[in-house]
Amino acid sequence: MITNSISSDQEALNPSLKAGEFSKEMEANPENLHLRSPPSPAATGSLGSRRLLDRSQFIRILLQALHSLGYSKAASSLESESGVALDSPEFTSLLFHSLSGRWLDCVTTIDSIPDLSPKSKSSAAFLVWKQHFLELLGSDDGLVPARDVLWSRISPLDLERGAVHRLARGMITSEDAVPGEDRVRRRIGMLLDLLGLMPDWVRVPSGRLEHLVETAVARQLESCFYHNSPEEVTLYEDHACTLGQIPSSCVQTLDAHKNEVWFVQFSNAGEYLASSSKDCTAIIWEIKEDDTLSLKHTLEGHVKPVSFIAWSPDDTMLLTCGNAEVLKLWDVMTGTCKLTMNNQVNRVISSCAWFPNSKKIVCGSYEPDNALSTHVM
Ligand SMILES: [Zn+2]
Repeated sequence: MITNSISSDQEALNPSLKAGEFSKEMEANPENLHLRSPPSPAATGSLGSRRLLDRSQFIRILLQALHSLGYSKAASSLESESGVALDSPEFTSLLFHSLSGRWLDCVTTIDSIPDLSPKSKSSAAFLVWKQHFLELLGSDDGLVPARDVLWSRISPLDLERGAVHRLARGMITSEDAVPGEDRVRRRIGMLLDLLGLMPDWVRVPSGRLEHLVETAVARQLESCFYHNSPEEVTLYEDHACTLGQIPSSCVQTLDAHKNEVWFVQFSNAGEYLASSSKDCTAIIWEIKEDDTLSLKHTLEGHVKPVSFIAWSPDDTMLLTCGNAEVLKLWDVMTGTCKLTMNNQVNRVISSCAWFPNSKKIVCGSYEPDNALSTHVM
């Protein structure tokens, strides 16, 4: 991966150190390569009640989180106090050797990484030697040394031959040759590709602490049997909803209907509830601030049971209908019947719905002779 922004790439590589400064420092004091030494004995061991967490790994993840939060001084203090460095020696070595063009040292570092497969080592070495090869192609009098790198370094690697042939073709076309002014950017890109092949311990993946915490929270939510509080997530305690957070006990009984209630539905904005009943009425209930319901209007006029109701999208009107019964349109605010629709559709209307713009309705009806049909009005 090669990105366009050198500065952002450099920060991605090491939030505590700019790549240019790093190269200069290491050129002047190569012994500093070993400054970031392995953890001191005090930082080893395990953490947690099950002793599953490696103390050194835990500190490295904390260090990275501190850097990503912008607390570089706190990170430096933690590094100093714990003796644990955010960057592994291998990462530091790859960073220095890549940016300063020490190709052989870079490959030696790759070879020293114990849990890297031979195939990955070949792929990583290819990236390094390819960069060297392309830089030689982009320099004056670089053709012969580039050819030597191709045959002595790249060709012996365990690679598909097409990769070697493409580079060989570049010797004629100068394709992908890296000019001097583009070296730093391309080396950073090569390093990022290189790190993509390395085990995660070489460089802590970005956002690792956030990922671990978020995964833990997500798992708790997924396993929450009574989950009913999507907004309430805290890091201070394990998440668990209780039976009391889901509707499990009766808090109010509405007894205004005189027969079976067949259908209930909230208005779209949630201000009202409508119910329909075998007693040939529908009722509009108003929802109070304490979530209790009070009767607003009893809609009387049907002569047969009301089995279905539909709120208009803007909640200003309500449709009611029933089996072998007419369709009625009600004004929600006044509770008056504005229209009875049995002439327009001379059939039994058993269900209804509003168009999204509140200007038309759809009626589902039953015709004894022609089976089911749907009408738009
Ligand atoms: Zn829950």
